[in-house]
Amino acid sequence: YFEQNKYHQHVQVEEHNAAPLAKQLIGDALRERVESIDHENCEAGEEDTFFVADLGEVYRQHLRWKLNLPRVKPFYAVKCNPDPKLLQLLSALGTGFDCASKAEIEQVLNMGVDPSRIIYAQPCKTKSYLRYVANQGVRQMTFDNADELRKIARLYPGAELYLRILTDDTSSLCRLSMKFGASLDSTDSLLALARELGLNVVGVSFHVGSGASDPRAFLKAVQDAHVVFQQAASYGYSLHTLDVGGGFCSDETFEQMAGVLRLALDEYFPAHSGINLIAEPGRFYASAAFTLACNIIARRTIQDSELINNGTMTPDTSYMVYVNDGLYGNFSSIMFDHQHPVAKVLRANGQTLYDTAAAEANTDGDGVEYSIWGPTCDGIDRITESIRFPVVLDVGDWLYFEDMGAYTKCSATTFNGFSNEHDVIYVCSEPGARALLGL
Ligand code: PLP
Repeated sequence: YFEQNKYHQHVQVEEHNAAPLAKQLIGDALRERVESIDHENCEAGEEDTFFVADLGEVYRQHLRWKLNLPRVKPFYAVKCNPDPKLLQLLSALGTGFDCASKAEIEQVLNMGVDPSRIIYAQPCKTKSYLRYVANQGVRQMTFDNADELRKIARLYPGAELYLRILTDDTSSLCRLSMKFGASLDSTDSLLALARELGLNVVGVSFHVGSGASDPRAFLKAVQDAHVVFQQAASYGYSLHTLDVGGGFCSDETFEQMAGVLRLALDEYFPAHSGINLIAEPGRFYASAAFTLACNIIARRTIQDSELINNGTMTPDTSYMVYVNDGLYGNFSSIMFDHQHPVAKVLRANGQTLYDTAAAEANTDGDGVEYSIWGPTCDGIDRITESIRFPVVLDVGDWLYFEDMGAYTKCSATTFNGFSNEHDVIYVCSEPGARALLGL
């Protein structure tokens, strides 16, 4: 599993060739789909928004993980994107799974994954779900308070428990510590109670907040976890696993975060300590693998008069464009995940512009100005306040958005009667991933 050198070599080779092939496969899939639609006569919904998922990207992220955090076994956070093919690939790659509910656990178990590869990482669990996991033999779970310990003692005394501790999550996009995590003031009494109830505490977990940006949060959390390991020993517990949670972004900050975390782990939980290390990454695996295509369903022309340098007035035309996906749909990430998806032009004037200069937004203030809106009747349903493209867009044209794999379709609603079930077209830019999926 941790054959570092092999993967090191592999990553370099793949990185060299991956980008052009990935672009080509994604571009072909987008083009083929939108060019196959007869926009004048198609059935209602045939021009619906859709995803293209490159599973090769997930595979590359896994290699990147192994290269940077070779001692830490990832348990993918299913909540981030429960796409069945994504889960299938991760399962084939040997990851574990972090599940938050019965439905997620059921989905993973139905894939044939062994219960020992699941952690029920929800510190405040539904009682009937606890009975369900007890029946299914999913033993690993987190807790962070005394009431939960008593609940577990009643319903699943044989569970393997991770004490989730509080972190400094101030640098993260989605803060979690106001809701979860035991402060270091309370860990001692929680361990005492667990001992009194005869429960089996096996590890410590933390989460520095989703989309974290300050690597020092990891260092502090590892130091705190080390303190809790010692406290636990004083109650006769011999903890065997540290769970470093999620929070890793997929951009270049990952190497920085992972570097700090790796050093902290080597100092406080060195290999010779025999402590297992696991993590719960979500966004890191899913984000960049999914591209979303949306159709422009309506356009409103705005005539504005603008004073230019010589004092004369010239009309400046801008447009509001309405697409068939929005904040209540796959752009739920704007509300819940504080994202700013950037539109690119997929198709305009009967031409597919994917990955060309004309597809990109103009950042120098030239070009035609647009605001981009979702399809519902709510005024907050706005994707982009202002963006400029070198082309004039009209009804029937298409936009695309990259990096739409994390916290998007999983939190989409059906508000206003719009479907939240959208096609995913799978491509795979890595032969290794194709082989694992039997493609
Ligand atoms: N684990 C837990 C308990 C979480 O709550 C979350 C996200 O909210 C994750 C893992 C995944 O976090 P991320 O996508 O930032 O890696």
